[in-house]
Amino acid sequence: MAAYEYESHDYDVVVVGAGGAGLRATLGMAEQGLRTACVTKVFPTRSHTVAAQGGIAASLSNMGPDNWQWHMYDTVKGSDWLGDTDAMEYLAREAPKAVYELEHYGVPFSRTEEGKIYQRPFGGHTTEFGEGPPVQRTCAAADRTGHAILHTLYGQSLKNNAEFYIEYFAIDLLMSDDGVCQGVLCWKLDDGTFHVFNAKMVVLATGGYGRAYFSATSAHTCTGDGGGMVARAGLPLQDMEFVQFHPTGIYGSGCLITEGARGEGGYLTNSEGERFMERYAPTYKDLAPRDYVSRSMTMEIREGRGVGAEGDHIHLHLNHLPPETLAERLPGISESAKIFAGVDVNKEPIPVLPTVHYNMGGIPTNYWGEVLNPTADNPTAVVPGLMAVGEAGCASVHGANRLGSNSLIDLVVFGRAAAIRAGDVVDRDAAIPTAPVDKIQKGFDRFDGLRYAQGTIGTAELRLEMQKTMQADAAVFRTSETLKEGVEKMTAIAAKLDDLKVTDTSLVWNSDLMETLELTNLMPNALATINGAEARQESRGAHAHEDFPTRDDDNWRVHTVARVDGNAVDLSYRPVVTDPLSTEAEGGISLAKIAPKARTF
Ligand SMILES: Cc1cc2nc3c(=O)[nH]c(=O)nc-3n(C[C@H](O)[C@H](O)[C@H](O)COP(=O)(O)OP(=O)(O)OC[C@H]3O[C@@H](n4cnc5c(N)ncnc54)[C@H](O)[C@@H]3O)c2cc1C
Repeated sequence: MAAYEYESHDYDVVVVGAGGAGLRATLGMAEQGLRTACVTKVFPTRSHTVAAQGGIAASLSNMGPDNWQWHMYDTVKGSDWLGDTDAMEYLAREAPKAVYELEHYGVPFSRTEEGKIYQRPFGGHTTEFGEGPPVQRTCAAADRTGHAILHTLYGQSLKNNAEFYIEYFAIDLLMSDDGVCQGVLCWKLDDGTFHVFNAKMVVLATGGYGRAYFSATSAHTCTGDGGGMVARAGLPLQDMEFVQFHPTGIYGSGCLITEGARGEGGYLTNSEGERFMERYAPTYKDLAPRDYVSRSMTMEIREGRGVGAEGDHIHLHLNHLPPETLAERLPGISESAKIFAGVDVNKEPIPVLPTVHYNMGGIPTNYWGEVLNPTADNPTAVVPGLMAVGEAGCASVHGANRLGSNSLIDLVVFGRAAAIRAGDVVDRDAAIPTAPVDKIQKGFDRFDGLRYAQGTIGTAELRLEMQKTMQADAAVFRTSETLKEGVEKMTAIAAKLDDLKVTDTSLVWNSDLMETLELTNLMPNALATINGAEARQESRGAHAHEDFPTRDDDNWRVHTVARVDGNAVDLSYRPVVTDPLSTEAEGGISLAKIAPKARTF
């Protein structure tokens, strides 16, 4: 048995993660008068949210008519009818409030002539329930919106006396035998000490797991740690087969060119110089949703109309736009194009390729952020003491495909919702539970096993095997054959976690060991993704299955619930929430408007 000393800390709430979701939750919890700690493996303003460029969706109507019902409709349609209707209503209704709060906290949004928040068009955001022209709904701070939000929320959290534990790595959740989350075990990276955070509520805001793939726009820190911790606690992951490929990752580096570039008038061409999106999506063209544009690009390349020496990518043109627009609205991506593709956007097109960008799936929650552990009798059973928000969670507002600029709004709306809920359910006067000692020991045993792992395969080598397999076999297009092969390969790759070799056994700044812990988190996320994809015999949103090319609402309008134990994955299904929060008579959306229909653009 591994013997490690640790220090204990007691809080009402511990938030794990300091991206947009974690910081909005932290700030809200502190404002509720709850003693709140925020634990993060990177400095808060280095979280992946800092890279978000394009903007945050809310129906402010600053640039033309808009309302929350239209935003909700677009989100329902964007999700390809897999999102939970109550959560999507909550998102669209609360979005304007959440954005005005950000404005008042100090986010430096770009402005219109009259001084209102500037909004740009983004894919899939429309007027008149999809019947009207595109709408300008995406609020932006130039092309550095995430950066602006993150810095503002960090400052506000400090002002409200939230306490930060920076460069602390959360190893595992500490759950009581009767399934209540009572804290989290952490490793302080810069001095090698261990810390147990006892809490009445733990909030996982650990972000996505893009790094399960070889080419991703997300930071190297996006390793699905929350999903890994949840899987080890015997709790499920939901809808993991839905992985978003962003149409415009820079060819080669995967670095993102925001959809805002097409929002400002950019367009895609093939090797014949054709604006091919006009053929695939006659109405919305280059601003069709991401799954649609990524598939169209992949079809062009497959049919021999890709650009470049190998015919393996597509061109994105901004060179027709006025240089002032590029300088004012898209300065960051102009710089990225120069650095990562050697391209002057004023003169030449940018070489781009669909690249893994976002995980629609995650830890299942209700629209208050409370984590669910669905059973056959109760598909919405709540796990006491545990919440999940942001990309780590699955509320589910993005269903099978997320609309651009709907993630940043998800972070703040549900970060805020979790805080409101915790304000109601956390008893400020109750004693803080002491996390169970046997679970702390179990966490240390796992840690120690990895620290002294003496197998035959290095962490980086095994990670690469996983990434290449996911990239090849759980791609933009999938077939029964590639998925079956992918499941077999991934099962074998995950088994090799028992054969890892870690060379550095120190406890201070041991990146080898930290990356090994991260790999043990990426793996269950990847397994749930490929197993869920193999099982789902239809095409919906980002899951494009060539052997089952149509959506099958009779059999598959259900959430996948995946429980991962070692390299085994158990799949079950739970119903999609189809009832909105309010009726049409109460000013809500009519059920007929959001009934499933074919998704055309
Ligand atoms: C390049 C890029 C551009 C994007 N642009 C947009 C956009 O314009 N609009 C939009 O709506 N969406 C955009 N997205 C998506 C959106 O930015 C992300 O989905 C969102 O920022 C995720 O936020 P988060 O708070 O959930 O997690 P993150 O910002 O990824 O933060 C995760 C946090 O968890 C912490 N953490 C993780 N694991 C551990 C652990 N084991 N222990 C302790 N701490 C841990 C990290 O330190 C970090 O603080 C973009 C994404 C990318 C990659």
